[in-house]
Amino acid sequence: MARIVKRAFKFRFYPTPEQAEELARTFGCARLVYNKALEERTRAYTLEGRKVSYVESSAALTEWKRTEELAFLNEVSSVPLQQALRHLQAAFANFFAKRAKYPTFKSRKKSRLSAEYTRSAFTYRDGRITLAKMGGPLRIVWSRPLPEGAVPSTVTVSKDAAGRWFVSILCQDTIRPLDPADGAVGIDAGITSLLTLSRPIPGVTDAAGKIANPRHERADRRRLARAQRALARKNKGSNNRAKARLTVARAHARITDRRRDHLHKLTTSIVRENQTVVIEDLTVRNMVKNHSLARAISDASWREMRTMLEYKAAWYGRELLVVDRWFPSSRLCSACGTLQRSMPLNVRDWVCACGAAHDRDANAARNILAAGLAER
Ligand SMILES: [Zn+2]
Repeated sequence: MARIVKRAFKFRFYPTPEQAEELARTFGCARLVYNKALEERTRAYTLEGRKVSYVESSAALTEWKRTEELAFLNEVSSVPLQQALRHLQAAFANFFAKRAKYPTFKSRKKSRLSAEYTRSAFTYRDGRITLAKMGGPLRIVWSRPLPEGAVPSTVTVSKDAAGRWFVSILCQDTIRPLDPADGAVGIDAGITSLLTLSRPIPGVTDAAGKIANPRHERADRRRLARAQRALARKNKGSNNRAKARLTVARAHARITDRRRDHLHKLTTSIVRENQTVVIEDLTVRNMVKNHSLARAISDASWREMRTMLEYKAAWYGRELLVVDRWFPSSRLCSACGTLQRSMPLNVRDWVCACGAAHDRDANAARNILAAGLAER
């Protein structure tokens, strides 16, 4: 039984100077509309205790476009502006449902540069995407084909801090579930290794179930650290500082891209080989002690990996179980169930009174698996 899912495909593209200018203008207008609508909503909410609807915001946008000082909003496609209002609507819905904090203004420097085009604002023909208000199609680097017969429903254009342009294309895709697998696996998020699985997967983990950090990462991190030191030495506001900042952003982007690639391969293998996958809820767990770059990267990877496991498990008909973050996975002997009083982070191997010799992470992964199966 195949299932239809919405799936985003992201590619790099290289805009012409005219396109880059049009997009930069669109980003700016979308941000302005978002901020202005937020301001109005805040006023209505704090002064009148009134909630403003999307329809009202949209009507206000029409009014703004008629004024002399905001007439320039007419120069860009109206769809990304409408989409900015929809994003604001979603942010308020999350706030009122107590899922998020009160929406904040988008800053020119810090917020993500992006514009969203829905069906009426782009054409997709002969494998080419042309956005509204643009003469020619985007020069996209199709690193993989879109699924057969795919119909793009939304196109999001963005530019990252490293100056790279991306287009994310939302399509309907057909996913065929995998044949049922019989295995179950527990995963421990590591410090010395990226992950440890309670049972090894040949070609993915080593014999102990460990998955090392990607090999290139050490060199990539050294490059990043060097770029950050260089940036710290540059004078504020100088041209060299701007250049150095771009170098840092590029080094950072390289690490996250390669990591994401690595995580995609890993999560696909894990889901393919196991019917049940158990992970720990690490929302607040202190994985690495100091607030280092290693920690920031490993926390981000873990969140990303969890998201990947969630949707891939749903796609392929697998079960993902999440065990409580207070579960003492490292201190429990997986052989006899005795709880050790303490297990300092520097202890990598230990022997229980029952005689079982444990690798810290492999033992934790086995406990996570057992806890998940027991809670189910
Ligand atoms: Zn024991």
